[in-house]
Amino acid sequence: MPATQPLPNATILGYPRIGRRRELKRAVEAYWKGDLTEAQLLETAGELRAATRARLVELGLPATGGAIPESFSFYDQVLDATLALGAVPSRFADVAFADDATDLATYFALARGDKDHQPLEMTKWFDTNYHYSVPEIDEKTPFEANATALVAQFAEASEQGIETRPVLVGPVTYLLLAKASDAAGEGFAPIDRLDDVVAVYAELLGALAAAGATWVQLDEPALVSDSLSVSRDEATALVERAYDVLGGLENRPQILLTTPYGDSSASLLRIAALPVEAVHADLVRGTLPHGAFSSGEFESAFYKKQFVAGVIDGRNIWRTDLRIASGVVQDLQLAGIDVVVGTSNNLQHVPHDVNDETKLDARLRSWLAFADQKVEQVAVLARGLRHGADSIEAELAETSAILADRAAAPGVRIDAIRDRVDAVTDADRTRDAEQARRDAQRALDIPAFATTTIGSFPQTTEIRKARAAFTRGEIDQDAYDGFLRAEIERVIRLQEEIGLDVFVHGEAERNDMVQYFAELLDGFAVTENGWVQSYGTRATRPSILWGDVSRPAPMTVAWSAYAQSLTDHLVKGMLTGPVTILAWSFVRDDQPLADTASQVALALRDEIDDLVQAGIRIVQVDEPALRELLPLDADRQAAYLDWSVGAFRLATSGAAADVQIHTHLCYSEFGEIIDAVDGLDADVTSIEAARSRMDVVEPLGDHGYSRGIGPGVYDIHSPRVPSVEEQTELIRIAAARIPGEQLWVNPDCGLKTRGYEETVASLTNLVQAARAVRAEQ
Ligand code: GLN
Ligand code: ZN
Repeated sequence: MPATQPLPNATILGYPRIGRRRELKRAVEAYWKGDLTEAQLLETAGELRAATRARLVELGLPATGGAIPESFSFYDQVLDATLALGAVPSRFADVAFADDATDLATYFALARGDKDHQPLEMTKWFDTNYHYSVPEIDEKTPFEANATALVAQFAEASEQGIETRPVLVGPVTYLLLAKASDAAGEGFAPIDRLDDVVAVYAELLGALAAAGATWVQLDEPALVSDSLSVSRDEATALVERAYDVLGGLENRPQILLTTPYGDSSASLLRIAALPVEAVHADLVRGTLPHGAFSSGEFESAFYKKQFVAGVIDGRNIWRTDLRIASGVVQDLQLAGIDVVVGTSNNLQHVPHDVNDETKLDARLRSWLAFADQKVEQVAVLARGLRHGADSIEAELAETSAILADRAAAPGVRIDAIRDRVDAVTDADRTRDAEQARRDAQRALDIPAFATTTIGSFPQTTEIRKARAAFTRGEIDQDAYDGFLRAEIERVIRLQEEIGLDVFVHGEAERNDMVQYFAELLDGFAVTENGWVQSYGTRATRPSILWGDVSRPAPMTVAWSAYAQSLTDHLVKGMLTGPVTILAWSFVRDDQPLADTASQVALALRDEIDDLVQAGIRIVQVDEPALRELLPLDADRQAAYLDWSVGAFRLATSGAAADVQIHTHLCYSEFGEIIDAVDGLDADVTSIEAARSRMDVVEPLGDHGYSRGIGPGVYDIHSPRVPSVEEQTELIRIAAARIPGEQLWVNPDCGLKTRGYEETVASLTNLVQAARAVRAEQ
């Protein structure tokens, strides 16, 4: 057992690591290009870490005792764990840790791949917009502890006079997020290697203890998810098995076991019984175990153990109601719990600092808390625990006043918008019957195996330059509009040359598929520096949905109508759906998401109306985020699907029978939500399918899916040009399960990240492939 040295009563689970001005992104990308040496990159990273630690102390976290987490990562925290475990997939054996490969070179080789190696796959981290590098494990994956980075960062902090708490993804979550490598035998699951991996964690903990670390944080969000390969109950049993071993080690730091991103109340008492010194629960998404207080079970479970109460929301950008949060932690303390004030999760999902937003409306800004403000809120609550709630009354009164101001501010609640939402009936979410629509849409004269694209054409440097010049005021509205019209005309002519059937306008006017709409809708604000890591060096700047949403003017009609005026081919109107707009924005926390979604849906409904008035016959409403918002907790999924599908239907059901509604969903793994996809009632749905070689057509066939479906035949994630034969083959696989009149032929997703050369070649092949299969029918 380690010596007891309690955690100070204020902490956070992690802090953004990209830098206030995305310094890490710039340094890493410069290193990739060869403009920065490894030594220079390491130095920049060290400076960033030092600045972060100093900032956290300045904001009120104690410099000693392990209150400050060391949550830096060059690219991804799961990849960090892969390196710490030495878990290099066998397909990288020739490059990883080769004689001339440093740890960092190995790290980026796994992250990015090279001409001979596909990178590790990326996938979504729980229900966030963050993506991690998926470990690949098999029976033979060699595990070998590599504590170099963990120990070096701890030592670096000590030199700065700060005693940090190293952070690692825990062993159970690590393996449950991994996939079996291609070399794995039938029936193998990565979690089968739990005992081997725990042995390596034991070595890592030993190395940290030897370096002088008094605390280590192990994150086990697997404990709150129903979306993994094992049930939450099984995950709890696995955690028990792993931490009985880790907790029993002679030589280790004290362990803080965390359960972010959801509700761990069902297993919290079991977790608290483990031989660890502190346990965290997310009290924003989750609750305390029901009835555990009256029975005294909670107090006895946490006897001589610390409880980190995740009361400050790490997923959104609003100031927490400190009075409520203070009540929660004060009650815990009163019940005799050794309570530490914490965040619900790692603050990596929020931007750095509200004070960096100089252009935001001052009143809106006063309601917001980015990472730095959240740390301050944690520190205030901790002070209240030390000196009594009275000692922080001024701060509590201040947040109460801020919340009252927010509730009463103009734009937050607009009667006319609310009345319209209240008046929505089921009829407003219902289109004509499927068959009636099919009959009416015959007039559109769309061939079997119709070819189309998903919407965007390559966003060239010229487009980015023109947009930047317009934003900076170097060119005026007329010049910018003229540029965009010329771009649209070019894309229309190109589609004619390639021979596609149904056209798009190319989306050159859009910086981003959500921000574009956020800028044009009332109720949203956009930030200057509110960057949040999406994956690796990629960051997004989510908009802030703060008020009731309405559409002051048409948003896309001029562009779509112009495109349609140039050609006899049908041009699809192109909108982002309500669920995706919410998923990729910071949403208000003062009303149910379902209500916010209805407001956005009504604005889109009006837009569709206007598009149709302007002569558009097909409207595509993209919902790539539909699955991503699916709650981790199975009990909450039905309610989610109900409102999200309802919002899509509200947006699209104003369309008459002869208007064809399309949707695009991006991913292919939608087995679990196939009923919901059907429920969207779109006439045509396009999805990603090329990489999985049409895996999705079988479940669709079994389901008896009767609407139009466009499984992607061209993988747009790389510049590779798929041949005619290859695409023909994929269409044939689909045609074997689904009638040709239902099938559309399209790429997996939009083309905005591609170059023109490969795009034209690939689409030309796509058209030929469709013609070939049509001829075979
Ligand atoms: N219409 C969008 C595009 O083509 C869809 C993007 C997406 O699904 N992420 O870019
Ligand atoms: Zn997509």
